[in-house]
Amino acid sequence: MTAGFEYVGLPYRILFGRGLLDEVGAEVSRLGRSRVLLLSSGDLAGPGDRVEKLLGPRCVARFDGAALHTPVGVTEEAMGHLRASDADCVVAVGGGSTTGLSKALAARTGVDQVILPTTYAGSEVTPVLGETAGGTKTTRSSPSILPETVIYDVELSRGLPVPIAVTSAVNALAHAVEALYSAQANPIVDGWALDAISGLGNGLSRLTGEPDDLEVRSDLLRGAWLAGMCLASVGMGLHHKLCHVLGGSFGLPHASTHTVVLPHVMSYNAPAVPEVMARIARALGAPDAPSGVFGLIERVDGPTSLRALGLGLGDLGAVADQVTASPYPNPQPLAREGILELLTGAWHGVRP
Ligand code: NAD
Repeated sequence: MTAGFEYVGLPYRILFGRGLLDEVGAEVSRLGRSRVLLLSSGDLAGPGDRVEKLLGPRCVARFDGAALHTPVGVTEEAMGHLRASDADCVVAVGGGSTTGLSKALAARTGVDQVILPTTYAGSEVTPVLGETAGGTKTTRSSPSILPETVIYDVELSRGLPVPIAVTSAVNALAHAVEALYSAQANPIVDGWALDAISGLGNGLSRLTGEPDDLEVRSDLLRGAWLAGMCLASVGMGLHHKLCHVLGGSFGLPHASTHTVVLPHVMSYNAPAVPEVMARIARALGAPDAPSGVFGLIERVDGPTSLRALGLGLGDLGAVADQVTASPYPNPQPLAREGILELLTGAWHGVRP
């Protein structure tokens, strides 16, 4: 019998397919908007230029300064462009950083948003905004932060370089994995999570050999969307807490940190949720979930050690302290010694 559960749907329009970049002008018009502030970042000048051209005179301003972890100073600069141009819509082309900036503008002004994700971070479908100021990260959540439209263009996603695609896809995998053992897990989200895991696993295993294959990119992008929906719908556990601390307090890179940490957290949690790990293993077509994920990352040359990401061995104790001081709900109780052991394995890059 299915256990009782709560599920709250989120309101946005999703377009998924090939060649959808061409629809961006129509989506702005559909919202009844005509003055666009285009957001992008330095690495995405090419796609940004294409969108600017497609928008034509509707593009009244452009800001290419989005940065990781949504610094408030950058948002204030973008606010200046929004006000000066009298824009009534934001179109954002980029990864989680550009999406974060768009959401920060919407949180302050209610401006409509059309988002074209180029990574697999999933932020575009969550009502959560994390911002940094003076080294401190604050988070808020509201449906008003959500974009009106998300356009997932498989062809656009093909431009994401393989090394970034690898870590970004494992970042997405982590949302789906933690959704399955979340305190709020429910059958709707479980279905998305398992579908995301098999799509991401399949896409990752073929990515390095066939980086331009649209089927591979489609599997990854669809998996990323579903994983983002998981992140938006249920609470995350130890993995997200650890990555939050490692990124927020120790400055480690977002997606690479997720990639190194995930198999170790899965191994830590496995004794508490063996049936979840069995479902993940089946979705991946691997005999064992934690070592299956680790092996997948190794095969695609993803990062496997915290040492290589620049964390000092002497920092592990402080990370464990922060994680246990304000823990997220997690199936396996958070014992400092156990977390330290997990971190030591992840620091050395040993197979869990
Ligand atoms: P990102 O947006 O910084 O992108 C990673 C790198 O890839 C950047 O250097 C970017 O310029 C580059 N890039 C992106 N697309 C490219 C392309 N097509 N071609 C070449 N280079 C490209 O990082 P991310 O991992 O996508 O997102 C991380 C950020 O998103 C963090 O700030 C994180 O906190 C936030 N995030 C928020 C949520 C949420 O729900 N609020 C969810 C996930 C991530």
